[in-house]
Amino acid sequence: MFWYHKTIFAGAVAFLVSCATPLSTQNVQDSEALCQNELAAIYANFPTARANKCQILSSTRLTLVIDPENKPINSSAWYAFKISPNHKGSLRVDLKYSHAKHRYPPKISYDGTTWNLLAKSKINVISDDEVSLQIELKNRPVYIAAQEIFSAAAHEGWVEKTEKLPFVSKFIIGKSIEGRPIYKLEAVTNLDAEKPYVVFVGRQHPPEVTGAFALIPFSETVLGGSDLAKKFRDKYNVLIVPNMNPDGVTHGNWRHNMGGVDLNRDWGPFTQPETQAIEREFKRFNEGSDKIVLFLDFHSTWRNLLYTQTDDEPTNPAFFTRDWLRAVDKRLDDDVYKFTREQSPNSGKPVSKNYMYASFGIPAITYEVGDNTDRKPIAIAAEIFAQEMMKTLLAQEDVR
Ligand SMILES: [Zn+2]
Repeated sequence: MFWYHKTIFAGAVAFLVSCATPLSTQNVQDSEALCQNELAAIYANFPTARANKCQILSSTRLTLVIDPENKPINSSAWYAFKISPNHKGSLRVDLKYSHAKHRYPPKISYDGTTWNLLAKSKINVISDDEVSLQIELKNRPVYIAAQEIFSAAAHEGWVEKTEKLPFVSKFIIGKSIEGRPIYKLEAVTNLDAEKPYVVFVGRQHPPEVTGAFALIPFSETVLGGSDLAKKFRDKYNVLIVPNMNPDGVTHGNWRHNMGGVDLNRDWGPFTQPETQAIEREFKRFNEGSDKIVLFLDFHSTWRNLLYTQTDDEPTNPAFFTRDWLRAVDKRLDDDVYKFTREQSPNSGKPVSKNYMYASFGIPAITYEVGDNTDRKPIAIAAEIFAQEMMKTLLAQEDVR
C-alpha cells in the first residue's frame, strides 16, 4: 500500500514540469466567476475545470456541486476549480457530488504546474458524496483539482517535444467531436525494413492522469538513447496516441467524450470520431501492409495492475505477457511499485484490449496505474516495464 510522501510527490512534480503547460492565469480573471463572496471568487472556466453550481453560505463558506457530463457514469468524480482571493483568509469549500462518491484526494497548486496534496487536516469527509475543504488563501489565486491538471495542451506540449527527435514524426489521425486534433507519434527508422509495430494509446478516460504519468516515461524509455532502445528500434517501429479524448480532458469529464460515450466501450462499434480515427489508423494492420506485435492502453484505477489475456489464449508473440511481467516482477520491489496481473479471457465487451486481441491475435494489455500511487515510482516502474518489454520482444526476435 502506498501513501503520498511529500518529498516523493515534489520530486514527481519536477519530472512533470518539463511536460506540463502552465495554466493561463490571465484571462480567467476577466471572465465571469461561477460565484463570489467577500473573501474570494470561484472560477471554473479554464481547460479541465469542473464545478457546476455554487452556493454562497457566508463570507467564508460556500458549496460547489460537482455534476457528471451525463448519466449513467462511472464513479470517477473529477473536479477542478480556481479560487481568486480578494484578501487573505480561510475559505471553507464543501464539494457535493451528484451521482458519485468522493474519490480523488484534492491537490493544490498556485501555478497549475507544481502540485501538492491538500493536507489531510484540511479535509473533512462529511459523507460518501460530500467533503469539506478548508483552503488558506494568500494574496494569489489557487487551483484545486481531483488530480494534477494535465490538459490537452500539456499532452500537445509533450507531442511537440517528442517530435523533435530525428526519427519521430507527428501526425493528426483525426479530430474529436469538437474538432480537437488527435495526435499520433510514429518512430520509424530504416524505411526499407519491414518492421513490426508496438502501439501505445492513452487518456481514453479524462480523470486518469496517472495513466499519462506512466505512458510518458514508458514512451520516453522506448524512444530514448540507450543501446537497448536503439537496438529495439532497429527491429521495431513505435506508434503512440497519447490522448484519445482531448474534448473530455478539456471539459473535465468524468468518463466520456462529448458524444456521451465511454470511448473504451466503442472498440468494435466505432461510433465516435475519436475511435473512428483509431479504426482508420489500424486498418493497415488488418490489411497486412504493416504488422503489429503489441498493444498497450494506459489507464488509471484503484491500484496498479495489468489486464491481460489468459496464458491459455494463444498470442503471437507467444507467452510474451507472461515472460515480460515475470521479468519486470524480478526487477521491481513491491515496496517501490506493487502490481498484479489480472488475466481475463476475452468477454466480447468492446474494450480496446479485447478488440486488439480478437483482431490481431497479439498481446493486448490494459496498463492500469493506481489513482493514489506515488508519482515518482510510477515513472520508475514505467521505465522498467519499458526496458523489459524491449528485452522480451528482442528475445522473441532471436528465437524466430
Ligand atoms: Zn480507464
